[in-house]
Formats: sequence, structure tokens, C-alpha cells
Amino acid sequence: MITKILIANRGEIACRIIRTARKMGIATVAVFSEADRGALHVDMADEAVLIGPAAASESYLNVDAILDAARRTGADAIHPGYGFLSENPDFVEKVEKAGLIFIGPSAKAIRAMGLKDAAKALMEKARVPVVPGYHGEAQDLVVLAGKANEIGFPVLIKARAGGGGKGMRKVDRQEDFPAALSSARREAKASFGDDRVLVEKYVTMPRHIEIQVFGDSHGNAVHLFERDCSAQRRHQKVIEEAPAPGMTEEMRAAMGAAAVQAAKAIGYSGAGTVEFIVDASEGLKPDRFWFMEMNTRLQVEHPVTELITGLDLVEWQIRVAAGEPLPLRQDQLSIDGHAVEARIYAEDASKGFLPAVGRIAHLRFPPDGVRVDAGIRAGDEITPFYDPMIAKMIAHGKTRAEALARLAGALGRTEITGTVTNIAFLARLCRNADFAAGRLDTGLIARDLDSLTQTVPAPAPITALAALAASGMLPAAGVAGDAASAIGPFEIWGAARRSVTLETGGESGDFVIERLGDDSWGVSGPGLGAALTLEAVKASGADWSFSTGGVARRCRVVAGADSVTVFHEGLTHLFTRPRGARADDLAAGGDRVVSAMPGVIRQVLVTPGQGVKAGEPMVIMEAMKMEMTLAAPRDGVVAEVMVAVGAQVSDGVSLVVLESDADKAA
Ligand code: ADP
Ligand code: ADP
Ligand code: MG
Repeated sequence: MITKILIANRGEIACRIIRTARKMGIATVAVFSEADRGALHVDMADEAVLIGPAAASESYLNVDAILDAARRTGADAIHPGYGFLSENPDFVEKVEKAGLIFIGPSAKAIRAMGLKDAAKALMEKARVPVVPGYHGEAQDLVVLAGKANEIGFPVLIKARAGGGGKGMRKVDRQEDFPAALSSARREAKASFGDDRVLVEKYVTMPRHIEIQVFGDSHGNAVHLFERDCSAQRRHQKVIEEAPAPGMTEEMRAAMGAAAVQAAKAIGYSGAGTVEFIVDASEGLKPDRFWFMEMNTRLQVEHPVTELITGLDLVEWQIRVAAGEPLPLRQDQLSIDGHAVEARIYAEDASKGFLPAVGRIAHLRFPPDGVRVDAGIRAGDEITPFYDPMIAKMIAHGKTRAEALARLAGALGRTEITGTVTNIAFLARLCRNADFAAGRLDTGLIARDLDSLTQTVPAPAPITALAALAASGMLPAAGVAGDAASAIGPFEIWGAARRSVTLETGGESGDFVIERLGDDSWGVSGPGLGAALTLEAVKASGADWSFSTGGVARRCRVVAGADSVTVFHEGLTHLFTRPRGARADDLAAGGDRVVSAMPGVIRQVLVTPGQGVKAGEPMVIMEAMKMEMTLAAPRDGVVAEVMVAVGAQVSDGVSLVVLESDADKAA
């Protein structure tokens, strides 16, 4: 019996596990780092224990602190989620030695699949088809280059300890092999502390199709069908779905049998995923799939399997870990409809998917039609310390077209401000002609990158509306933050006419807003042609409606301290105070230091509580290959440092916040 589970993880997966535990009447313990005080998973759990500083190596990877938290709270089982310690066999051994149940496979099974080369050798023995290539002991250039020639180009060099698409290099020509090998090795060494590699045939028209497997401690194993994860960027999954487009019964049976064989070969217990690479150049053929690796944990994309099978995989994990047999036999499992998941990240798709951070000022998911697994809420912060995933959105439909349409629609109705997100990119991908027709392979996103990441300028009426919102002239608008004070120095006070400076898409302009009647306004400014008249303007909270030239529009408007965001027809249009104005603001005694360009943080020279003098260096960042020193805008005390060394930040992100006068007064 399991009565209290400690979840050794954070974010959406910790929240997801807590939901199922609660449903089963099991108590939960969250662990959290200093960066996650007050995080959603901490609030959701029955108990929570601080386990260390922000850096994962000192908190979510800190085995002793986690075991100590379990002891102090009397937890009898530990769920590792995914990432962090989920595939660490030494951790499993320590958990078991402490007399606790590990909700996952045995240390032995994890070890068997831990390294890609050993796993492939093992699978060959178990007669599971593996990707042709070399996964032997030899590591010198001459041997590996020779093997690459034998295999035939293109080949893929892979770190044997790899994960998350790291340490991987596709090589098209023999002469490029040595350079690719050293760069793969460098990345493997840095990411995994192991620079050994294997070389594989690069499959043409590759599709990533994986099989969800489940084993129990009584020797049973079943599969829960496939997931297609071919929509990838940089070997990382973006959209996952089940079943796989174009899947045949014959192919499914062959892949399912191979995956169950793989699980049985290592006496697998719990949830696992056997990943296969498929040559889809001539459709799906049962002799054209090969084992790539096995992930011995619950996977990020497990919800699509839950939606097509109607099962709760976390519940199955907990039951199996408690010693129960699998709840269902293979012949009791079936597929209902189609499910698609999109991973919503804080990242800038148009800038090479640059990860972003920031405080989520406003967050709203559509209330119905889709499942949302989120790990944050409005007010929470995306920090540079962990994966910048905001949420997963999963849609189900009778058909693939129905599920995709539902997902695209729900993405379009999702509102997030405070950081840049990949939502528009995801929605476009759902509607991409090839993707929508099920013609997918792992190269699709890269091929259509320009159209998928294209940014669309705001239509003139939307720009005019943003200017009106920024003017603060509609006091009943329920504007978040104090728009009037935010715009302060840039408006000409007066009842009938104000001006504001706003920047969007890198262009800054001055707008003049004039009151023409009870609910009508004239707005002039760059890009608006002659002055635009906004009529029948109504604002109720964030719900706005207005009409221009006889066309009525509805949109959602969120005005923050230094920005206005308009959500309209599935797009997010952000209008900010221009950087120049922000600089003036700082000189005049503002309390934030903001990155002016995307870049990497090289040094952080201040800590919270520290006093600083105007002009004192606080953060050094590298942007566009230049070093930039960001200095204190005024004398003051550091309230918050929002970045760490090594973090990638996009532009306009708060790096350091000084205590405001209001704080001092309080
Ligand atoms: P999935 O197949 O479940 O989508 P991913 O490769 O996306 O797996 O990884 C899931 C999570 O685990 C991510 O948060 C990723 O950062 C983390 N992760 C994956 N592999 C490793 C690894 N070898 N070391 C550390 N973290 C990893
Ligand atoms: P990771 O541990 O990083 O998840 P995988 O071995 O699962 O590494 O590979 C990640 C991705 O790289 C796959 O989903 C696929 O898109 C691509 N890939 C891997 N092996 C091959 C191959 N032999 N041919 C073509 N693409 C491959
Ligand atoms: Mg993989």
C-alpha cells in the first residue's frame, strides 16, 4: 500500500502526479528549490519541503536532501516524474535502501537502457530490429570514420549517454566527419560527462514513432499503442500525437510486439517508452522501423496516450509500484479517436527558438475543449534555471482533423503575457498543409521554418486600439496595472486628447488619441494612414469590442505597467514603451535593469539586499558577440536578481530589480 508520495520534481509533471495521487486518496509531498517558493506544485501538495538553492544540481538532483524530505514527512514512495533523477539507477538504489518504493522501473532495467550503445547491443540479442550502425567499443577517429563509410552517408553521430537531442550530429559527407565527431564529443562531454559516441545510418524521410509500454512485477507486459513525435526541431519534440498518421494494423502489431519484447528482455516494470525511427519514404512498412532507445520513465507526451485509451498512466504507475498486476490485458486495450499535444514554451521561435524567461503577468487558457497540463499560473515566473515549458495543451477528437482543429483553435484562444511564447508557431504548425495532411517527417519544421515562424504585424485598427488602451483614457476598462502612471511622462494631460509612445515589431511611434464622443475615439499615428476612428468602443475588463469602417471586432486587451497586449484572431500583439523611453525612465530613477538584446548572462555582480550606487555594474551579458555591462540606474538596494550566469535571455527581460520607494516606505 502506498499512502504518501513524495514527488521529486517540479512544474507541470509534479502537478500532474499530485492530481492523480489525490484522486486515489494518497497524500502528497512536494519538494522545491529556493527559485520555486510558492510555485504551483508547492501549493497543490499536502506538504512541501525546501530542498536547496535554485541550481538543479543542489536541489532537484540533490539525492540526500530529497531522501531526508521523505523521511521527515513519512512518505512511503517517491515518484521521480521525468528529467532530473527519473533515469538515475543510483537514485533508485538509494530510495529502496531507505525502505521506500520507487515509482518506476528497477535500477537494473534503467541501467540496461541507460547507454544507447549497450541498449542497442541488448536489443539485437532480443531480436528487436535496431538502427544499422556501429555501437562498439572503439572510439578513435580512424575506426569511426571507417565505420561511417561502411554504413554509408548520411550518418548520425550520437552521444551514447545522450538525451534531449544533445550530442547529436548529422553528417552528409565523408570530409565533414572529423569536425562533426569532435563537436559531438565536446557537447556530449559538457552535457553528460561522457564523450563516447555511436554512429548510425541516418534514416531517409525519418519519422519518430514510439510505443508506450507497461510492465508489472508479475512478469506481464503490454503496449498502449504508438505516439508519433515526428514534428521536431533540433531533434526535440514539438507536437506529439496518437495514433500515428497512416498507421496500419500490421505495422502497429509489429511495432507493439517488438516493444513488448524489448520490455520483457529487461524484466520491465512500470511505464516506459520504446522509441523507434521509421523510414517513411514509401509509407509505413513493417520492415522499416528500428529501435533507437528506451526511455525508462513516464514521458512528457503521455497525455495523448491517456486521451485515446481513456486511462490514467500515473495511476497505473502507482498501482504497479505497489505490487498490483497490470489493470488490463492487451486484448482489453483499444484506441478511441485521435489526440494531439502541443508543448507551450517560453521561447522565441523567430529567433531560433531562443529560450526566454519572465514573469507571467497574465495567463488564460480556454476553459473547455482541451486538456491543459500547466505548471504555472499568472504571477509565476519562468526562471532560467529549468526547462522553460509553460504548459502542455492536449486535444482529442473523433478524427485527426478534428483534434488538430480543436488544438489550433484553443492555442489561438490562449493568452499569455510577460514572456514570449511559441503559441503562434504551434498554431501555424497545426494548420501547415503537409502536417495537416499527415505528410510529416522529422525535417518538416526545418523545411517550412520561415512560414512557420513568420511574424504578422498588427492590423491598423488593433494598433489604434492598443494606443487607446495605453492612453488610460478609458478608466472603466479594468486595465491591469496602473496604465496612467505607466505612461505618465509621455502623455499630454487633458480630458480630450492625449499622446502616447508605443513600440511594436521593433518600430516605435507617437500616437495621438482624441475623444470624439461617448464611445468613439480618433487615433492618429504611424501606420494608421489618416486618423482612424474607433466607434462603439466597449471595454469590460479585458473584453473589448469596437468597430472601424463598419466592421465590428472583439478582442482581449491586457495592459500592464509598461506594455499593452492585444489578443486578436489567434495572434498576440505586444505593444511596449520604447526602449529609449525605458532608458530615460531608468535614468530618472526607475527600478529595473532590462536586457536590451537577446544574449547570455556572463556575470552577475550583485545579490539581493545589496546596496548599489548609480552607474555601478550589476550584470555583464554577451549579446551579438559583444560584452555589455548593465549598470544600476540609480542609488538603491537590490530587491531581486532574476537571472543566473549562463542563462539565455531575450530582449526586454528584467534582470535586476531595485527596491522601489514604496517598498522602503512599507
Ligand atoms: P520526452 O521523450 O519525454 O519528450 P525529452 O527528451 O523531451 O523526453 O526529455 C524530457 C525531460 O527530460 C526534459 O525536461 C529534458 O530536459 C529532460 N531530459 C531528457 N534527457 C535528459 C538527460 N539525459 N539528462 C537530463 N535531463 C534530460
Ligand atoms: P535523445 O536521447 O536525444 O532523445 P534519440 O536517439 O531518441 O535521442 O534521437 C532523437 C531524435 O533524433 C529522434 O527523435 C529523431 O528525430 C532523430 N534521430 C535519431 N536517430 C536517427 C536516425 N538514425 N536517423 C534519422 N534521425 C534520427
Ligand atoms: Mg529520444
